[in-house]
Amino acid sequence: MTPKGWCPGALRPMPAGDGLLLRIRPRGSRLDAGQVAVLAEISGIFGNGQVDLGSRATLQLRGIREETLPQVHRRLETLGLLDGDPRLEARRNIMVTPFWRDGCGTQALGRELEAALRDAPDLPPKFGFAIDTGERPALQDASADIRIERAGGDLLLRAYGMARGERVSRGTVTPRVLDVLEWFAGTGHRRMAQAVAAGIQPPLHADAAPDRQAPLEAILRSAPFLFAPFGAATSAALSELAGHALRLTPWRAVLPERDVQGDLWLTDPDDPLLRVSACTGAPGCASASVVTRELARELARHVPMGRHLHVSGCAKGCAHPAPASVTLTGRDGFFDLIPDGPAGGEPALRRLPAASLPDVMRGHLGSQL
Ligand code: SF4
Repeated sequence: MTPKGWCPGALRPMPAGDGLLLRIRPRGSRLDAGQVAVLAEISGIFGNGQVDLGSRATLQLRGIREETLPQVHRRLETLGLLDGDPRLEARRNIMVTPFWRDGCGTQALGRELEAALRDAPDLPPKFGFAIDTGERPALQDASADIRIERAGGDLLLRAYGMARGERVSRGTVTPRVLDVLEWFAGTGHRRMAQAVAAGIQPPLHADAAPDRQAPLEAILRSAPFLFAPFGAATSAALSELAGHALRLTPWRAVLPERDVQGDLWLTDPDDPLLRVSACTGAPGCASASVVTRELARELARHVPMGRHLHVSGCAKGCAHPAPASVTLTGRDGFFDLIPDGPAGGEPALRRLPAASLPDVMRGHLGSQL
């Protein structure tokens, strides 16, 4: 079992069923061309070739062998992907929109925020930031406790859970972030949305709402993203993109900065495989008693457009913490079926064997999906 609240990093890898898991947090949610090539190589040589795209624009190398960890760290350090210490690494949870342009100030804001976080109070492990100041808003549904956005021509600082935020200037934005962090550290909450839901108001003026964001489907059609089903890419898939700078996203997709053919990636945002999510499951995760991704692949064709099926190895629901149209949660080698709920929700059907699920999805639940 993974300790509660554990948030893995490159310096603080997490033991998983398939070896160590190293989470890399690329600065500015971007990998340069050289970093892409070397990460593919590291995954192939020192890991099991599995590379996860995380929901916070991170990248996870899986199956790293313990004895090779010093070599992996040395190579990550050469790439500029290793922090000075685990404490700094843990707080550097900064997600940057893929829709930035040279000179728009978004990447500079990310660097400034990273530097400012060195003076921040200790934060809970999953506490994170989104910088959504690109040419159009895109990260409003992504998991981040503090957001820097745009409202008209102004910068906006907003706490997750609040509909409106405070207009800030370029010079005051990071000092105001630090003010909010000092306040948050005293609330005793682990996530901003929990504090707001408990009626505790962040010390921000509610000046304006952020610019309106297009539906995610439209965002995913607006640029040549390359998708990895389940966020599970491979060293071979990454090697295809070697020599190309990549922008990471929270949508299990990367955005190459130049045109590139990726045969091991999906390019159609309407592909049925993108309507299902599934965690690593057994045998990769020690908490799972069921195989998840093979089943999700098999069931994907039963999921109509606009709906979502989540197959979870256990009630933790790592791959999709939010409710899905249908969630199948593994328990003791069987599946519980939860309609319109998260992995830990109340099941409508219990102890379904995996072999029965295609029929269950086609028949009993076909009209609900
Ligand atoms: S949801 Fe999946 S990956 Fe997460 S702990 Fe459970 S089995 Fe493991």
